[in-house]
Parts: sequence; structure tokens; C-alpha cells
Amino acid sequence: MTEKTIPFTREQLSDITARFPTPFHIYDEKAIRENARNLKNAFNWCSSFKEFFAVKAAPNPFLIQILKSVGFGTDCSSLPELLLSQTCGITGEEIMFSSNDTPAEEFKKARELGAVINLDDISHINFLEAHAGLPDLICFRYNPGPLRGGNGIIGTPEEAKYGFTKEQLFEGYRILRDKGIKRFGLHTMVASNELDPTYFIETGRMLFELVVEISRTLGISFDFVNLGGGIGIPYHPNQDAVPLDVVGKEIHKLYNEIIVTSGNHPLKIYLECGRMITGPYGYLVSKVRHLKKTYKNYVGLDSCMTDLMRPALYGAYHHITVVGKEHLPHDFECDVTGSLCENNDKFAINRKLPSVEPGDVIVIHDAGAHGYAMGFNYNGKLRSAELLLRTDGTVVQIRRAETAQDYFATLDLEMAATFS
Ligand SMILES: *Cc1c(COP(=O)(O)O)cnc(C)c1O
Repeated sequence: MTEKTIPFTREQLSDITARFPTPFHIYDEKAIRENARNLKNAFNWCSSFKEFFAVKAAPNPFLIQILKSVGFGTDCSSLPELLLSQTCGITGEEIMFSSNDTPAEEFKKARELGAVINLDDISHINFLEAHAGLPDLICFRYNPGPLRGGNGIIGTPEEAKYGFTKEQLFEGYRILRDKGIKRFGLHTMVASNELDPTYFIETGRMLFELVVEISRTLGISFDFVNLGGGIGIPYHPNQDAVPLDVVGKEIHKLYNEIIVTSGNHPLKIYLECGRMITGPYGYLVSKVRHLKKTYKNYVGLDSCMTDLMRPALYGAYHHITVVGKEHLPHDFECDVTGSLCENNDKFAINRKLPSVEPGDVIVIHDAGAHGYAMGFNYNGKLRSAELLLRTDGTVVQIRRAETAQDYFATLDLEMAATFS
């Protein structure tokens, strides 16, 4: 069970909505810092442990700066994500570049920044060498294929587009060894939003065993393993968070059993989580605009799926709090909708809420990762602002809301007006 609370009182929130019109995303800095410390503590047995925050989850430089200050690097997969890292002063091996179907200019930028390059395919060795040159440290992404399970979002590994087969790993490291490369990493990531801790422990075992097998066969040694991201969060109140301390402790045991006894110590341990780092600590704040009753009850908000598309895209559950009515009976069954001309534009279907009125403030939970980030402009919907609730209780705007000018910024409207 996970209690779904909000980090502000009704009065604080009404001050915030008086200063910043809804809808907006707001992040809780204190909770982000506490959670980051917990993750580091779970791996404090490994002095070289590092988390590379998957920028795609919440690509805001203010959030990246907070995470940088607790010692996190970034995990990037596009040129703008590399530029965001650079803006925040994150360069060199503080960046993990885990991309796929990668264009040459992104490899060039990653090399220029000295990022750790994680190749998705064996053919990218030659491509990287031809376009950007080979760095002295290279990582490969492993796809274990049908041996292991997966879950819904990425699917079973053998159906996933990512990574090398096991045979390709041996071949790839051999090629690099013969080209004189000395430093190697090994990465995998085959599930997303996984809540079962066994999954991450078994990922550790799999990568540790591979490190032993590959280094023995090829006579190379590994600098790090990257266990990927994919640690889930309890979106539903009846789910539990992944016990990070258990994951850390079990991986420590496996490290001693497999890595230390085989003489492969020291080996750095990396993670590249996004969702669990900011997800539970971001909220989409919205107001009820209209109530509608036809064959069902509809609660229409001033936000829509362009602000948070997970419910529409995956049927994902996001908890909803009607601020100030938390303790009233939840006996009003409704669909909570946005204003997009798409019938899947619903934050919740058949949800039991307290009875609501236009103007009520609605908080949608767990929107801090893959929330704002997945936003889009379909139907001329403008993206919301992002706010940060600082540890001292003050609120700052860390991204303004879009205006119609932003929406038209890539058009030449003067030319269009007289076009024939
Ligand atoms: C999306 C992604 C992540 C982060 O995943 P989360 O589920 O947000 O932890 C990490 N690494 C790669 C390569 C990814 O594609």
C-alpha cells in the first residue's frame, strides 16, 4: 500500500494557483532529494556507484541541477538531451549516451563532450569509428532474447528493437580489443516500470556472470556494468515501491559471489533510472472546468492528455485528489476528461471521486516522469508551465507555459497570409 498525499495544504495550493494559472506541473524538491539519497544509500557498499538520470523522463535543467548536486549524471539519447546536460555542466563520463538508431551528429556531439557511449548495435562500431572516432571507453547494450521475461511496455526482449545478441557481444568486444580499446562497459535494459525487485537483482546476476564469461574468454577487463533503468513506481495506492535497500543488498551479495571471487573487482555499478527519480514527486495541477451528465458523468478539466498522456497511451492508472475533499465519501463515479477531440483523452475512467464542482482544484499524482516530457501540441493545445516547490516551501517557475506565438514559431505567418 502507498499512501497518496500531496506536499502542500489547500491554502498553500490556492496561493500557488493565484500566482500561476492552472494547469501546471509542480515538482517537490525535498522529496526528490530524499529519494535520491535513499537510492545512493542502497548502493553505499559500492564506492563507484552512480545513477545517470534518464533525461527523457523530465528534461528540465533545473531538475537536472538538483540531481547533479546529489551526484547524479545524465543518461541521454538525443542531441538536445546532450545539450541540456552540457548546459548544466554535466560532461565527460558523467554522461551515459544510450541511444539507438543513432545519427552521426549525435555520436559526434557525444564524443565532443567525452560522454560514455553505449552502442545499441554491432554495426555501430564501424559507424562510430567512421563518423566520430572510437573513444577509449565503450559500452554495449545487451538484449538477452527469449531467455528472460519482460513486461508490457517494452515487451519480451526478443521482440524489442534494442541491443546486441550474446554472440554479437563476444564478437563486438573482440573487435574493440583488437583495435586497442582498453576500457569496457556492459549494459542492459529490458523492462520498464517494473515493481518486482527480483527483476533488478536477476539483471545484476546476469550482467555479472556475463562480465566473468566475456573477460575470461577475451582477456579483457570491465570498467562498469550498467543495470539500466526501469525501476517502477506505485502508481496505484495498492502497489508498493521497489525496496531499494533489498535490491542493493542482494546485488552486493551477488557482487561478492560472482565478481570478487572471479577476480573482476573493482567493477563500477551504474543505473540509469528516470521514472523512479522524479515520477512520484511531480503533480499535474488542474481545475474542474465543466461537469457533464449524459450516459455517464464527465468531469472536464482545464488540462488534457497533451499534459499527461500515460492514461490515454497505456491505460495507466494515475491517482487523483480533489483538493480539500480528501476526507469526503468517494461515491461519485465519473470519467475525468480533457478537451482534446479524441475520446481517449481521459485521465480516469469510472473513477470514484467525492462530488466535484467547477473550480475545484484537482491534483493528478505521479506525473513527475514521462508526464510533461511526453507532451505534444495536437489540437493546438499549448504546453503548461513547470513549477518547483523548493525545500524552503517557496515556489519558482522553472518553465513558462507556451503561448500561441510559441505554437506558430516555426511558421512564416506573413507568407501564409498572402499565399495563393
Ligand atoms: C527510458 C530509458 C531509461 C529510463 O527508464 P525509466 O523507466 O524511466 O527508469 C533508461 N535507459 C534507457 C536506455 C531508456 O530508454
